[in-house]
Amino acid sequence: MEPYSLYVGGRWVKESEALLNVYNPASGEHIAAVPTASRELVHESIETAYNAFPLWSRTPAAKRAQLLRAVAQKIRENADYLAQVLTSEQGKPFSEARGEIAISADYFEWNAEEAKRIYGETIPASVSNKRLLALRQPVGVVASITPWNFPASMIARKVAPALAAGCSVVIKPASATPLSALELARIFDEVGIPAGVINVVVGNAAVVASEILNNPKVRKISFTGSTEVGQNLMREAAADLKRLSLELGGHAPFIVMDDADLDLAVSGVIGSKYRNAGQTCICANRLYVQNGIYEEFGRRLAKAVEALRVGNGMEASVDVGPLIDEAALNKVERQVEDAVERGGRVMVGGSRPNLPLSGAFYLPTVVDRIPHDALVAREETFGPLLGMWGFDTDDEVVSMANNTPYGLAAYFYGKDFARVTRMYEALEYGIVGVNDPVPTVVQAPFGGVKHSGHGREGGHQGLDEYLDWKFVSIGL
Ligand code: NAP
Repeated sequence: MEPYSLYVGGRWVKESEALLNVYNPASGEHIAAVPTASRELVHESIETAYNAFPLWSRTPAAKRAQLLRAVAQKIRENADYLAQVLTSEQGKPFSEARGEIAISADYFEWNAEEAKRIYGETIPASVSNKRLLALRQPVGVVASITPWNFPASMIARKVAPALAAGCSVVIKPASATPLSALELARIFDEVGIPAGVINVVVGNAAVVASEILNNPKVRKISFTGSTEVGQNLMREAAADLKRLSLELGGHAPFIVMDDADLDLAVSGVIGSKYRNAGQTCICANRLYVQNGIYEEFGRRLAKAVEALRVGNGMEASVDVGPLIDEAALNKVERQVEDAVERGGRVMVGGSRPNLPLSGAFYLPTVVDRIPHDALVAREETFGPLLGMWGFDTDDEVVSMANNTPYGLAAYFYGKDFARVTRMYEALEYGIVGVNDPVPTVVQAPFGGVKHSGHGREGGHQGLDEYLDWKFVSIGL
């Protein structure tokens, strides 16, 4: 791979505090060394974003839209290469990486269209000698902090609306997966996004975050990652009252009713749970199956899970790649051990596979007969383990599904319309997939409630996050 540099003020920065080594999580192979930013460089990137803001925010929406469309087009032209980089640093199967790159382009295209529709309002005054206007203006410099599980699309779904709104951005990607971010920076540079409008700094999270939090020129932080870090950011951002969007952890329930199409529900569980080796914030974590179909559903699910092929994501036949690192694998193992110690039955999987690869692989696993206070019932797993429980009534399953501090995504499989309606209304989640395991699209609001955070990404709601209302009252 080509040598990488950071991107600040339209300049490629090679000077570094220390080099960050990037490894292929499937093979353990060293794939790149990336410079890391000092606090001074993070400061400079905020300064340059601040200086670029007036010009960018005044650039006509049609021109901003044109540049965003050019980004989308370049991403599509380079999709295979970008997906290869993504799989090599993150591990997910190439076909999934290709999908992530495709939706990344879509975020830019969709927001390019939406940039032209940031309408204000005229408001009828109560007196004849006043005119009232409400305008929408960009919030200013935005800091985007992103996780490793979607190294490209998490950036796209923050940066595209921020640029559409007229904001300038400093991106801090996850240290495990900085390459996709720097590849995107190359594209931003090539299409001619003006210098300073987008900056990418890789580096020690505490150092970067400290500068972001303490610099009053940053007016908004858009964060995707763990609930714990999100809580810290919220506490610390309070001093300067920065705006925040927090896309945090999840613990999704997946409910299968006795009238569900069982094969559809099985493939839904597979799609929701084992995509990205279980490392998505909206992955099913707890499977609730109505008792009338429990045994039959369990048999069909175990068979389908057993058929999944684990290995290097660059091999076309592989369905499930490695976990990001040993720590992630240890968490899955701890949850499986805990479930088994409490009487759980491993229906399928339950161990590391035998592979000639050094990565952190774990077999897709389903465990049932687990008490409701087991770790897998309470903690986000972020790996290919699914806990399964039976239930009798709708009220019972709603109460089990909502019994968590998280509230990102929930899934429900069934056919009865009235029941479906009652169920999606009762689930305390930001997203509900009804007979749909992949409810992520560019045009709809994605985000959670409770400990899964607040704010939305995608849809016009995602754009609203980067805009303030300004009320203008004109006396005549
Ligand atoms: P993480 O540890 O919170 O890291 C996320 C980002 O925050 C990384 O860039 C990380 O940098 C940075 N970071 C770490 N410590 C920080 C600090 N003290 N202050 C500021 N930034 C800090 O989360 P992760 O393990 O990468 O990602 C997995 C989590 O993200 C899961 O909980 C998942 O559910 C959640 N997630 C949520 C969504 C959503 O839309 N709701 C989407 C995807 C993932 P370093 O990499 O340098 O440590």
